Amino acid sequence: MRGNLLSVLDFRGVGMTSQRTRERLIQRLQDQGITDKKVLNVIRVTPRHLFLDEALSHRSYEDTALPIGFGQTLSRPYVVALMTEILLSLGPRKKVLEIGTGSGYQAAILAQLVEKVYSVERIKSLQERARGRLAKLGIKNIRLVHSDGRTGLAEFAPYNAILSAAAPHEVPEHLLEQLAPNGILIIPVGTIDDQELRVITRDGESLNFREKIVHKVRFVPLVKGLSN
Ligand code: SAH
Repeated sequence: MRGNLLSVLDFRGVGMTSQRTRERLIQRLQDQGITDKKVLNVIRVTPRHLFLDEALSHRSYEDTALPIGFGQTLSRPYVVALMTEILLSLGPRKKVLEIGTGSGYQAAILAQLVEKVYSVERIKSLQERARGRLAKLGIKNIRLVHSDGRTGLAEFAPYNAILSAAAPHEVPEHLLEQLAPNGILIIPVGTIDDQELRVITRDGESLNFREKIVHKVRFVPLVKGLSN
């Protein structure tokens, strides 16, 4: 766990009702097949309500995607849990790249389970808000970058894992190129109505990749270019 886990004391103010609601969410994730205790525990201690507008905070621990502004959404907890569980399934991952910081929630989950997270976002305002939240939570092992994730983030490559929270129509070559030996790319691919979550692993140091389709999903599209 590397001592990154948020302390239970950090959200004592939330109250007992919310604590119960959180346990219900954890139970729901387990019912849907999430078994990695580390992942479940990190979701249990991470205050999802801090990543949403106050008007939505009463729904924070429901297993649904919720809007974060600019037409974007914070993914459903089950999908966050599933992607994180897959990311860790082949052993520890040191350096991870996330495409699509959004609210910063998925990055906060990852940061408690790996050594270092790089996360890129194309919408500057979302990135700034995420930065504020992560600072408030005292999470320090995330580097946020305002850039177009379709080209990955060459500056800090290679990565042991890359996780995309936005869906391209086809897997961007750059992401494959930036995988370390035995690296793993977890990415939704397709149109808004017909998308699948793909898990692509690099075979050792070779340039061979194995691909597996895991799940039908619905992510926002991976969009070209930057915005404020
Ligand atoms: N991981 C986020 C989910 C946000 S939704 C969370 O936990 O809240 C996906 C995000 O991807 C959106 O914020 C969207 O603006 C961003 N995005 C879409 N296309 C992108 C691109 N080409 N480069 C970087 N970010 C992108």
